[in-house]
Amino acid sequence: MPASHSIKAILADASVLLSTEEAKLEAQLLLQHVLNVNRAWLIAHANDALQPNIHAAFEAQLKRRLAGEPMAYILGNREFYGLDLLVTPDTLIPRPDTETLVEAALAKIPLSESTKNLSFRRKSESSGVEQHDYETLDSDFRRNDDLKVLDLGTGTGAIALAIAKNRPKASITAVDASDAALEIAKQNSQQLSIINVEFTLSNWFENLSNQRFDVIVSNPPYIEEHDAHLTQGDLRFEPLSALASGMDGLDDIRQIIGDCLIYLKPQGWLMLEHGYNQAEQVADLMADAGLTNIETIKDLGNNDRVTIG
Ligand code: GLN
Repeated sequence: MPASHSIKAILADASVLLSTEEAKLEAQLLLQHVLNVNRAWLIAHANDALQPNIHAAFEAQLKRRLAGEPMAYILGNREFYGLDLLVTPDTLIPRPDTETLVEAALAKIPLSESTKNLSFRRKSESSGVEQHDYETLDSDFRRNDDLKVLDLGTGTGAIALAIAKNRPKASITAVDASDAALEIAKQNSQQLSIINVEFTLSNWFENLSNQRFDVIVSNPPYIEEHDAHLTQGDLRFEPLSALASGMDGLDDIRQIIGDCLIYLKPQGWLMLEHGYNQAEQVADLMADAGLTNIETIKDLGNNDRVTIG
């Protein structure tokens, strides 16, 4: 086998390519950010000289990135479920895996009748097939108007806002124990003009007395407190309180499951994100608490990620 085809050579070539592509993209994003322009502008003006102050600002951001700070914190935003969200070091950076939780919740919260009617009318102009689909589902939509949803530990507001945006008739309550995070979540809801989310400062259920919800969702901290990953990569820049949860990573999940029945309506759903290797434990905890219809859902990477009951 020629030397250039050795595992070592192939890996070296591939890693140069990988890091080049990623680095190129990140450098472009940082420069777009300091210039406040899009990618097309950057390409069209590729031969322009950069003003010294802009150049200095770019260098400062590059330095932060080289020190390992996540792109989302430097840029101050991250896309999640089609929403552009403000992100600060007070909030966990929303991850694509968590979109699995949003999908699970949306699957249990059908579009309300009036909203469905609107989309039906638009669609029916071009196709008669839609009408049949709509009619068969009509009674379900009528029953599911104005559902109440709770997002525990909302952070940037990602999950709550994604649900709210896609289910404008649902009333969402989003809580967080961090004032600073809640402030960001509120700013996100304002920026996105989402009006059906109410924000409450609360450590899990603490300040939600006498309220009951149809769906309770949470992406709580679930990493083992001694996990070495917490001191590596992006994680070391993120709030530890949003990541680590006791010796086995399940302290907060145990607390949420333990209290959930007080706050769930009969027939309601609890939906929790968890680590890829925690599905069985979470399902057991749910069963012990008296939840039924327990099911685990995989994320895009085919890892167990969300368990519902
Ligand atoms: N999924 C995240 C990670 O492992 C952790 C987020 C969390 O603890 N909720 O990077």
